[in-house]
Order: sequence, then structure tokens, then C-alpha cells
Amino acid sequence: MRKKLAAGNWKMNGLAASLSEVEALIAAHPNPACDVLLCPPATLVSAMAAVAAGRVAVGGQDCHMELTGAHTGDISAQMLADAGASHVIVGHSERRADHGESDAMIRAKAEAARAQSLVAVICIGETEAERDAGTTLEVIGRQLFGSTPDGATGVNTVIAYEPVWAIGTGRTPTLEQIAEVHDFMRSELNGRFGSEGAQIRLLYGGSVKPSNAAEIFATSNVDGALVGGASLKAADFGAIIGAL
Ligand code: PEP
Repeated sequence: MRKKLAAGNWKMNGLAASLSEVEALIAAHPNPACDVLLCPPATLVSAMAAVAAGRVAVGGQDCHMELTGAHTGDISAQMLADAGASHVIVGHSERRADHGESDAMIRAKAEAARAQSLVAVICIGETEAERDAGTTLEVIGRQLFGSTPDGATGVNTVIAYEPVWAIGTGRTPTLEQIAEVHDFMRSELNGRFGSEGAQIRLLYGGSVKPSNAAEIFATSNVDGALVGGASLKAADFGAIIGAL
């Protein structure tokens, strides 16, 4: 049985004062029925981990594939773990678009995360042009295979399906479209990893908010959500956690 996961991605938002939202979230949901993960900017990982004290998991938003080295501005999986992170998002579409990250790079980052015992939250998703062209499942199949390491298990890996056109736009796929992609991902993972694949959680991400969370979570093979904008405020994210 896969436990549901509500994951928040703060992106390039949040200052030290924003940690009061984490305190408020924990106070309002001391015993959530699902796992809860927050991924703040790297500057806040350590402080958020201290505030969370294990009551919500804390993750990075990216990591380098190397352990150390001459990579100015980058952060390694080891550094995130050292700062108190237990998870790291890799392959977010904003990283793929803004930093030219390929599936092979994302796979290497996920492997680097695993080497530090971090759970890799691997993001995949089609663009609007790809959906309009009818190639969604082809794109998802390619990204899923290319970005997921061979050693992926339900313990070290989470997959987030995030249609690029749904991120931050207020638009979401229909529930049938979400189910089609999630059923496809589940079948691909089962085919590649067998019983281990069946344990890998599949999150939906893209304009999840309190008003649509319950119906999305009730959709076939949706094991939770990766939430951007609505994870910044305890009231919104708490309502999404409550819908799981
Ligand atoms: C995201 O960036 O992972 C995301 C899902 O953003 P939003 O919820 O704001 O669409």
C-alpha cells in the first residue's frame, strides 16, 4: 500500500520569516494522514529542517550530479543531506527549460541523491505543443525511462507528473487525462521494476489547489501531489493535506 504524499515546492520564494508558515502548518496538522514534504530554496533548507524537527520532511529543489567540485552556484546531494534534507526534486520542468537539463542529467542527479540516501522526486511532463500533437504518452514514456535510474524503488524514488502547461497557469488536465498518464506510468514502472515499481509513488503536479485537490487525489494511480504556489501558505497547503 502506497502512503499518500503532499509535497510543496517553494521555488524561488521564501525568506527566514516565511518559516512561520511551516510552524502554522505543523500546528494545524500535527498528525496528517499523509506524508508531508516541503522543498524550500536552498538558503532555507537547514533552518526549515530545524523548525520541522522531523514533523514534515524537508527537501532541496535540485542537486548537482557530482559530489564536490568546481561548480559555482550549484549544490550537491551531500550538502542537502548535511543541511537536514531527506528528499530532493530533480528534473523540474523549470530546470529542464532554464538550465537545459536532459533526461540523462536528471538520471545522474537522481543517482547522486540515492548515494546520499535522499529520496529523488523526479519530475516529468509534456508541453502543450506535445499534448496537442498527441504525443503525451510517448514523451512521458521517454522521460520516465530516461530520467529514472535502474535502482529506483519505492523507498528512494517518487515520480511527479507535471504537465508543463499546467504549472502555475491555473489550468489542469481533465481527470481522465490525469488517469491516462498515471495508469501509463504505473504500467511502465511495473514492467521495468516489477514489484518494486509498484511501490513507487506517483504525484500529480500543476495548479493543484484546495478546490481541486480531493478529486485529483481520488483519480486512478494518483498517490499525492507536488504543489507549487499553493504550498507557500499554511492555510492552502493545509487544506490540500486535509484532502488527501
Ligand atoms: C510546480 O512547480 O511543481 C507546480 C506544480 O506549480 P503550481 O502548483 O504553482 O502549478
